[in-house]
Amino acid sequence: MLYYYHIFLFTILNLTYGQETPYTLVSRVGWRARLATQTQPLKLPVQIVVVHNTATSSCLDQESCSSMMRKIQKHHMDVKGWWDIGYSFCIGGQGDVYEGRGWKYMGAHALRFNEYSVGIALIGSWTVELPTKEQLDTLKIIIDHGVKQGHIDPDYLLVGHRDIRDTHCPGDTLQAEISQWPHYYLNYRGNGTIQL
Ligand SMILES: [Zn+2]
Repeated sequence: MLYYYHIFLFTILNLTYGQETPYTLVSRVGWRARLATQTQPLKLPVQIVVVHNTATSSCLDQESCSSMMRKIQKHHMDVKGWWDIGYSFCIGGQGDVYEGRGWKYMGAHALRFNEYSVGIALIGSWTVELPTKEQLDTLKIIIDHGVKQGHIDPDYLLVGHRDIRDTHCPGDTLQAEISQWPHYYLNYRGNGTIQL
C-alpha cells in the first residue's frame, strides 16, 4: 500500500513540477540559502536578461556548487550589505540551476536595470575559457522557459553585464558567445540602444 502511495505521490509531483521545469532546479533550501533580509516583488514580464559570471572558480557537482552559492550569498549580504544573493539564478558546470532571488523578487545585479531584468550568472570566471556546454545550453533553456511561463517578455533583450555597466563581467569569452545569440540587443534591435 505504501509502495503504491509513493508511486502515486511521485507521479503527482512529477506532473505538478517535473514536467514544468526543463532543467534541474536546486531550490534555496537545496543549497541551504540564508533567508533574505528583505524582498521586493519583481514586475513581470521583464524586458531584459542580464548575463553575468560570478568571477569565482567554477564548480561541477551540486555539493561544490551549493557551497559556492553560500559563499557568494555571504559576500553579497555581509560585505556588500545586500538583502540576499544578488542574482536571480546561477548555473553550475553541470547545467543545474541554483535559485537565487528567483522570478518573484527583484535582484541586485545590474544597477539601474534591476527593476526590468533578471540576472543569470554562470558560475565561474569566463575571461579565457568558455563555460561548459551544459551551462550554455541551460542558459538558453531557462530563458526560453521563462518566456513560455510569462516571466520574460518574448521581445526581451539579452545583454552582458558589461553592456550596461563599467565591468569586465561576464568575461570576454562568455560575452563573445552571447553576442552571437539572436536576442543579443545589438542583433535584435541593431541600433545600439537598450530602450525600455
Ligand atoms: Zn555581473
